[in-house]
Amino acid sequence: MSPIDIRIIPTLFDNYVFVIHDPEANVTVCIDPGDDPIIADTVKKWGWAITHILVTHPHYDHVDGIADLVDEFNCEVYGSHHDYGVIPRCDFRLQEDEVVTLGSLKFKVIDVPGHMRHHIAYYLKSEDALFSGDTLFSMGCGRLLGGTAAQLYQSLKTLSQLPEQTKIYCTHEYTQANAKFALSVDPHNEALKARARDVDQMRQDGEFTIPVLLGLELKTNPFLRCDSEQEFAALRRQKDNF
Ligand SMILES: [Zn+2]
Repeated sequence: MSPIDIRIIPTLFDNYVFVIHDPEANVTVCIDPGDDPIIADTVKKWGWAITHILVTHPHYDHVDGIADLVDEFNCEVYGSHHDYGVIPRCDFRLQEDEVVTLGSLKFKVIDVPGHMRHHIAYYLKSEDALFSGDTLFSMGCGRLLGGTAAQLYQSLKTLSQLPEQTKIYCTHEYTQANAKFALSVDPHNEALKARARDVDQMRQDGEFTIPVLLGLELKTNPFLRCDSEQEFAALRRQKDNF
């Protein structure tokens, strides 16, 4: 059994912060911390200290907690070289396809622009885990806030190539709202109907709907099921007005 521990901290309104712990190396990686004291409090309660922060993109709800965490834990901060000077306290500039090795954890940097002009995801192959930021959500995808539909379409195609057993750790609990839109454009999809029912139950029980398997997303996420960039762009516009 893998000794690696991946945990979720719900923060702010509907954000998730992911914490990956390697007990042998005593490495604790935190992804996309917004400004919420619950992050440090929870990690300390678990008996861990944050050693590294990985950032997918510099929106405030992903980076505003960095300065306090660096002051408290003296951890290292990694982000895209494109966002150097934009991400607070970031000293390590990552290139696409680079592999960041932290203890036994090897995070591959995948370039996935579209939500913003620059955005990266982190793929941890050993754990079948993808930290997708605001690119791919369960049954949805990020809004276009600086990038283009062409970029996001291509980025989702790239992520679709990962193994189907990949667990998608996305930053927001948007799943239930995404299901409503997905059902409106794909009402006869049985896998989608079943997933929507499961999600309703999970939310009623106060459970996270994340992570979700890529294989299930390929069956249920309308944004992964577009055949062309034009279709994708139209669907994204439709969702913006839903
Ligand atoms: Zn964002």
